[in-house]
Amino acid sequence: MSEELIAALQQVLDKGGLLVGDEALERESAWSFGLSQSAIVTRPKTTQQVSDILRICHRFGKAVVTHGGKTGMVQGCLAGETELVLSTERLNQIEAIDKTGRTMTVQAGVALQTVQEQAEERGLMFPMDLGARGSATIGGNIATNAGGNRVIRYGMTRDLVLGLEVVLADGTVVSSLNRMIKNNAGYDLKQLFIGSEGTLGIVTRAVLRLRPALSSDCTALVAVSAFEHLPKLLAKAEAELGGRLSAFEVMWNSYYEKASQREGHAVPLAATYPYYALIETQGSDAQYDAQSFQHYLEDTLTQALIEDAVLAQSQSERDNLWAIRDNVETMLAYMPGYLFDISLAIDLMPEYLEQIEGELSEGWPETFRYAVFGHLGDGNLHLIITVASDDLPVRHQVEEIVYSALQARGGSISAEHGIGLEKRDYLHYSRSNEEISLMKRLKQSLDPKGILNPGKLFRSI
Ligand SMILES: Cc1cc2nc3c(=O)[nH]c(=O)nc-3n(C[C@H](O)[C@H](O)[C@H](O)COP(=O)(O)OP(=O)(O)OC[C@H]3O[C@@H](n4cnc5c(N)ncnc54)[C@H](O)[C@@H]3O)c2cc1C
Repeated sequence: MSEELIAALQQVLDKGGLLVGDEALERESAWSFGLSQSAIVTRPKTTQQVSDILRICHRFGKAVVTHGGKTGMVQGCLAGETELVLSTERLNQIEAIDKTGRTMTVQAGVALQTVQEQAEERGLMFPMDLGARGSATIGGNIATNAGGNRVIRYGMTRDLVLGLEVVLADGTVVSSLNRMIKNNAGYDLKQLFIGSEGTLGIVTRAVLRLRPALSSDCTALVAVSAFEHLPKLLAKAEAELGGRLSAFEVMWNSYYEKASQREGHAVPLAATYPYYALIETQGSDAQYDAQSFQHYLEDTLTQALIEDAVLAQSQSERDNLWAIRDNVETMLAYMPGYLFDISLAIDLMPEYLEQIEGELSEGWPETFRYAVFGHLGDGNLHLIITVASDDLPVRHQVEEIVYSALQARGGSISAEHGIGLEKRDYLHYSRSNEEISLMKRLKQSLDPKGILNPGKLFRSI
């Protein structure tokens, strides 16, 4: 079967488009960080080639795992020996930029940072942003419905995509490259594929919605003495900063204390407070924006909502404040453990954290440590939990504690990273049986042979 399959693929792909056997295995071990044992790697350049590959795989019943930038956090790119990898790395063209309509049409393999830079060169902005911007692709962002730092103002990826082209499991191309903001002509099909993690179709092209570039940024790091001040601080920013609030990130002391220690950089605020919020606004009137931001900070200080503040005076100071928030790698090196991405109502966070902290410290009294940070403005927390053992059964015990306490509070086991392989056994903690059953019916109807990213999202359909 393999020889026939490879012969069929050779008919539709150029030499660089198909890697087989040792060539594929070597490349995958070097490029995929242990994510792939696949001996067949395809690198299509066009939608037609993606369609041809899927048509052939559908005929042979060959499973296909799509690879974008491979920065996903839930093992969505894991490809076994019997699976074929479809990499979007050569689908890397920006096809059109419409300055008047503020849209950009791109192939799926274009890096997020390239989109941001191309927009910026034209006085426009693509507001989605995340730490992996240099490697993560637009196709991957769409497949995971990525969130990031500016969701509070611009929404998740699904709010930034106007049109989509997708290739279905049997090779059918559904080109829905809408460029309009309003289009209620029937079902909005693109939303079905956004966030589907490569299980319903392969994204080949997208029309992205751009915004006017904003010329002024105000960024401050503030220290906060009590959790209940955080929602008040957030509500005040939303109400009084004229819709300019673009980020409201919070770090618990457990995160800030270590993440703020960066070689060659002074710690901006003493690590003695329980919470730190990174607050950012973006606007277009530098003087007015700075004055109102300053006024907001002074007010919050007077009202004792904050204890201390550092206001960035330049882009490099701004970058330094963000670097603390983005210093996840240092945290993971210091505290090797599990990274969780969860969401729940802000007012339930303290009791939730108290419960899991109690259960984890009871389970691993000697070794348990944890750090908390996240996009609080979106109800999204990241937890780094270490219990000094990375055995799979231990991991499952920790997951059970973290996720079951969420279920009771109507939270989500995945705020923005998706489900992949990592969270599939816990999907029912955040979704009802009816919801999961409908998801499986959709999967069965779009991919009846189950060849698209099998085993991801659900163990079986
Ligand atoms: C340092 C760092 C910071 C991060 N910060 C954030 C953050 O703030 N917010 C956030 O949401 N995520 C974050 N992430 C996670 C990750 O960057 C996002 O999930 C991103 O959207 C993945 O893009 P990718 O191209 O790397 O996708 P990949 O990892 O290659 O793929 C992810 C999933 O999408 C599928 N897929 C990829 N391309 C396609 C396609 N064209 N069509 C169909 N399916 C496809 C894959 O099969 C896989 O299931 C971060 C990751 C890192 C390493």
